[in-house]
Amino acid sequence: MADTALPVSMTLASGVERIFPTLTLAQVQRIALHGRVRPVRAGEVLFEAGERSVPFFVVTAGRLEMILPSTTGERLITVYRPGQFTGEVNMLSGRPVLFRSRATEAGEVIELDREQLIALVQTDSEIGEIIMRAFITRRVELIAQGLGDVVVVGSNHCAGTLRVKEFLTRNGHPYTYIDLDRDTDIQSLLDHFHVTVADVPVVICRSDMVLRNPTIQQIADCLGFNQPIDQTQIRDVVIVGAGPAGLAAAVYAASEGLDVLVLETHAPGGQAGSSSKIENYLGFPTGISGQDLAGRAYTQVQKFGAQMVITKGAKQLTCTRKPYTILIDDGLRVSARTIIIATGAAYRKPPCENLSRFEGTGVYYAATFMEGQLCRGEEVVVVGGGNSAGQAAVFIAQASKRVHMLVRSSGLSDSMSRYLIRRIEQNSVIVLRTNTEIVAVEGNQHLERVSWRDHQSGSIEMHDIRHIFLMMGAVPNTQWLNGCITLDAQGFIKTGPDLSQEDLTAAHWPLTRAPHLLETCLPGVFAVGDVRAGNIKRVASAVGEGSIAVSFVHQALHE
Ligand SMILES: Cc1cc2nc3c(=O)[nH]c(=O)nc-3n(C[C@H](O)[C@H](O)[C@H](O)COP(=O)(O)OP(=O)(O)OC[C@H]3O[C@@H](n4cnc5c(N)ncnc54)[C@H](O)[C@@H]3O)c2cc1C
Repeated sequence: MADTALPVSMTLASGVERIFPTLTLAQVQRIALHGRVRPVRAGEVLFEAGERSVPFFVVTAGRLEMILPSTTGERLITVYRPGQFTGEVNMLSGRPVLFRSRATEAGEVIELDREQLIALVQTDSEIGEIIMRAFITRRVELIAQGLGDVVVVGSNHCAGTLRVKEFLTRNGHPYTYIDLDRDTDIQSLLDHFHVTVADVPVVICRSDMVLRNPTIQQIADCLGFNQPIDQTQIRDVVIVGAGPAGLAAAVYAASEGLDVLVLETHAPGGQAGSSSKIENYLGFPTGISGQDLAGRAYTQVQKFGAQMVITKGAKQLTCTRKPYTILIDDGLRVSARTIIIATGAAYRKPPCENLSRFEGTGVYYAATFMEGQLCRGEEVVVVGGGNSAGQAAVFIAQASKRVHMLVRSSGLSDSMSRYLIRRIEQNSVIVLRTNTEIVAVEGNQHLERVSWRDHQSGSIEMHDIRHIFLMMGAVPNTQWLNGCITLDAQGFIKTGPDLSQEDLTAAHWPLTRAPHLLETCLPGVFAVGDVRAGNIKRVASAVGEGSIAVSFVHQALHE
């Protein structure tokens, strides 16, 4: 339809046309049916950085520039020409936008509000695909280039810095990182905001708000991650947890017309979001990073119109009357006709004093690109003999000098995939140490030394090692259930046929029918994924259970 956009800041590896596609005349005309055509004046600001739920614009005449405003001035990001459209993933989630949009000359646009845009991407699959692909690739490019409304000032030797970076990364939010240890000019920036080095990590949010060593809740609030929760609304289904199981349940429930609220304490993706590469998930023959999978799923959830709130976990379930209510972290309550529990599980740690002191500064529970960078060229320890330990060892071995894989038992777990066992055996960087356990860790600001005991010989060795990856399995996140739900001996939730007659009698099961598959001892409350007793701890099974549960939610809603 017109000449192509010439992005100013975005020097793109992945192809301009995918990120800034130009629609055909026929496509533009179809979009016009969903919105309104209106003129724009030269210099008119169509939306301002930080505004929420801004409209979506397709340029039909003239030019729209996208600008990143900052305390030091404006930075031109790109210019949209006729046939091109504004927006990235924030437009679907309703979160504040990162850029200002301004018309450089008089022209014309098609304007769609958020609901009209969601209706468009749901009903016109050709245009929906172009828009979704552009939104996702734009966000990926922004993250890659650190273009956004957040600056993190910190140090790689500080656990708080890693915590903040991890939170932003896992939530797919672009940020600029300034390393205090490397950037000597940083003091003038800190002076500008009257902060001392003792306040690190410092998060500068939308150019003006300065957060000193903030909690993740403060960051989420500052960046406007969440829309307000209407406490009077009774939801068809509240999904607790946004790992693969919760995300799948949200996609299916919202796409089937249910009113869905998702509560998540940390970031979409759950444990899978921390996985460097998932190689056995159907449809991704070359593997997909957990971050990528979670980002795509999150966008899909937004596309179907489910509401998700981040850093607002479930604290307590009230189950004595219907609708059920869930108390959320900040004292709010939400009511639900049905609930899907998808809270997964938390990592196990070896019984070793001091270990928690080094979390984030040498002790990690995930082996992603970020951690991989930290231990490049060094020796590392991976603890555990299951699939996640195997994956971590193979991944970390790509860039590190030596990987000591410590397994307490006499060999790798029976449940470890054959392909991983082969890769470990064939990798000369990985040293498998069976019957071995960590007994001590030492260091000052950062982990510096690790000691382990060989239980067969009784000998203890100490090594100068600065990085440990704990991959020892997990305990279920079921503490918040307030005694409402029948659990197994390990605290995992019993469902369907696993609930014995005694369990149901003790729980006062009120119906004549037996619980559905995946249904707990409370009618209309389901458990899916890693939190469920007997679950196979895999992404595919979590996704499968999340989607199956929705069909039973429909039945429960009609009961
Ligand atoms: C490093 C690693 C690599 C892995 N690699 C693979 C792989 O390659 N292939 C594979 O198939 N599987 C893999 N797995 C296993 C897979 O990730 C899990 O089986 C899967 O993530 C389970 O999904 P889930 O949704 O049930 O739970 P989780 O992924 O654990 O998600 C649970 C979510 O609930 C949230 N939550 C917890 N409590 C609350 C609360 N009270 N309120 C609100 N939210 C809460 C958590 O923050 C979390 O986001 C890996 C796991 C790890 C740790």
